[in-house]
Amino acid sequence: MVVYKCFKCKNKLKDEDLKKRFVCPACGSKIFYKPRTKVKTVKAE
Ligand SMILES: [Zn+2]
Repeated sequence: MVVYKCFKCKNKLKDEDLKKRFVCPACGSKIFYKPRTKVKTVKAE
């Protein structure tokens, strides 16, 4: 699951919600971004 944030109102949206309708339900914005969460560090062995 990926969580996006609305660029305008910082409303959190799941990618499932955006599949239905690519609009922020709170403010109607169509600009989203992925907030930086956990960064996976993968070590090559
Ligand atoms: Zn919004």
